[in-house]
Amino acid sequence: MQENPVILAVDDTETNIDILVELLGDKYEVMVALDGESALEITEEEKIDLILLDIMMPEMDGFEVCNRLKSNEKTKNIPIIFLTAKTDEDSIEKAYEVGGIDYVTKPFRPKELLARVNRELAMQKLIKDLKNSQDELRKLAATDPMTKLYNRRYFSQISAEFLELAKRNNQELSVIMLDIDKFKRINDTYGHKVGDDVIIALSKILVELKRKSDIACRFGGEEFVLLLPNTAIDGAEILAQKIRETVQNRSVKVEDDKELNFTISLGVSLVNVQNETNIEVSLKKADDALYKAKESGRNKVCVNI
Ligand code: GH3
Ligand code: MG
Ligand code: MG
Repeated sequence: MQENPVILAVDDTETNIDILVELLGDKYEVMVALDGESALEITEEEKIDLILLDIMMPEMDGFEVCNRLKSNEKTKNIPIIFLTAKTDEDSIEKAYEVGGIDYVTKPFRPKELLARVNRELAMQKLIKDLKNSQDELRKLAATDPMTKLYNRRYFSQISAEFLELAKRNNQELSVIMLDIDKFKRINDTYGHKVGDDVIIALSKILVELKRKSDIACRFGGEEFVLLLPNTAIDGAEILAQKIRETVQNRSVKVEDDKELNFTISLGVSLVNVQNETNIEVSLKKADDALYKAKESGRNKVCVNI
């Protein structure tokens, strides 16, 4: 269950705070601060969804509190409603200038204040939901639904960034391209569903054996690419062999508890980091090596520097 939104009420007059707690306490969790400095401390430590901020306070006034909140990465997005006895136009103008989202004058009408608070928090929820679905969409656009690995489209995008990074840090970058051997026969013998299970099982092995910083991508139907940052060709070949052996030794359960074994072929190449503008050439080299691995009998690793 989602927790109640948390409102921070900041006012140097305790009776004002009491009124706010009484008004908002049923629906929201209310935290209180009697001066600007403690308000800033609370926002550093707690997750605050909305601030009701008095302007006239000793030491640090509400404008200053607002300024500081807005210049802090962690607190800059907390919406602030000024709640103040100041009714002059200059103060209202300044309140919006420093980043306030609303302005309510004291003495306030309780129902009106509550309505404004409700509206602002509903707006915040809407923004949060939108952000979440945007993140979700971005993830969907980048991944292959069956294996949850990155898809080819995302791979071309991220590989460019990895190449840039390798250039800048003068690091090596390797590529492994791999493909299931005689996969058509698996499909023809056991059916498409078992074929899918084999693809998923292989994806899991890739995720299990790769480093966290390596990128695993489903490049096509039963073809995968691994991009290995900070890895020289020897390291890439060792990983390729390890993947090959693991696949060979692990079996996939098919109907009637039968076990199915399969193998893969792999091509490994090194990216010429300083001289290439994208990794297409290296992918082609890995693809040629993969072709060689197939030609020389499958269940093999071939390297093409
Ligand atoms: P090779 O050893 O030369 O790689 O032989 P192969 O049979 O694996 O190669 P080929 O490219 O001829 O066949 C690949 C097959 O993979 C053909 C295609 O129908 C199947 N395939 C592609 N994507 C999927 C998928 O998502 N699920 C299933 N079950 N099959 C797929
Ligand atoms: Mg194949
Ligand atoms: Mg193929």
